[in-house]
Amino acid sequence: MSEEKTREEFLAEKKHKKQLMIQKQNEPYEIKVRRAEIRAREFIRELDARGYEAHISVGGLDSITLLFFLRKIGIDVPAISVSALEDKSIQRIHEQIGVIRISPGKSKVKILNENGFPVISKRIAGKIDTLQNPTEKNKTVRHAIITGECGAQGHFAKNSRMKLPKKWLQLFGGYENENEGVNYQIAPFLVSNKCCYFMKEKPCDDWVREHNSKPFLGLMASEGGQREDALVEHGCNYFGKTTIRSAPFAPFLRQDILQLALDLNVPVPEIYGEIARKPDGTLYTTKAQRTGCSMCGFGIQLETRPHRFDLLRERNEKEWEFWMYKCCTDPVTNERFGWGRVLDYIGVEWEDRYIPEPEQMQLNLY
Ligand code: SF4
Repeated sequence: MSEEKTREEFLAEKKHKKQLMIQKQNEPYEIKVRRAEIRAREFIRELDARGYEAHISVGGLDSITLLFFLRKIGIDVPAISVSALEDKSIQRIHEQIGVIRISPGKSKVKILNENGFPVISKRIAGKIDTLQNPTEKNKTVRHAIITGECGAQGHFAKNSRMKLPKKWLQLFGGYENENEGVNYQIAPFLVSNKCCYFMKEKPCDDWVREHNSKPFLGLMASEGGQREDALVEHGCNYFGKTTIRSAPFAPFLRQDILQLALDLNVPVPEIYGEIARKPDGTLYTTKAQRTGCSMCGFGIQLETRPHRFDLLRERNEKEWEFWMYKCCTDPVTNERFGWGRVLDYIGVEWEDRYIPEPEQMQLNLY
């Protein structure tokens, strides 16, 4: 009974924090920008008191905008990035604005072969990774992933969010067939959410340790996923036992970040096109809305064609061919394979060259 109450309290607190975030997200742009400035200054003050330096971790447009914002309000801290993983046009901007380059910890090919494919979503990939790497220690978690039943640590929740959604359970749950008396499939490839850790976080962590520094991050809760959960839980500035970080843009929506980028004259890397306004006033980037590694598959199942692999094919057929057919070696058959196998397995079309629907084609009949 007391466990049940703890769980209720836990859920009530979570709900309250989520409501607070929604309230902040609904505030006017000017107030959000002002608050971001206050949070950034508070973070620096607290780091000074604790004897830490600060830096900013830079990737795409959001964090480039954060860098310009911090410089504008007089917070001039080093900017670091594993630039090599970004699109060439982003790398050029990094160079122009003085970003310190850090080498990737592990190559993309090694990640795919040794850890697995970053596919579906970070949360789901993490669960599949756990199923594919069973240990005595993760037994309870694996049970929860298949059944939704959590142990004491999970407040004995049943049907929890730990459970893999049905579609993915069917395709990836087979590792636990014997333990759970179920009959799911086993994928002919590895899946992992550790790409960011090995390629970006670990090499950055090494720099951070060396420089006794804590990061500003350009994250927004409105992006959803695990990031949203962490930002809702801990707010803009977080001083935890193992993590200290500031995300002054946590309550920003896409519109706010694009407006701020315009206000601060932020150079927009070519891959995004330019920031334009729709007739209803909504801001958008004319090309990519977000960027990532060319071999990133998170969210691919939600895209319509032409999806990111179609666009990659248009930009660079050779690179596309490599990621689709050749980037991995099957440890059993020694056969070369790539994203093609993964996309076929999860039911995403890719092989036939994308041909636009007639109404999308600019037909000149005269
Ligand atoms: S962009 Fe995708 S593949 Fe690249 S590090 Fe981030 S999550 Fe991993």
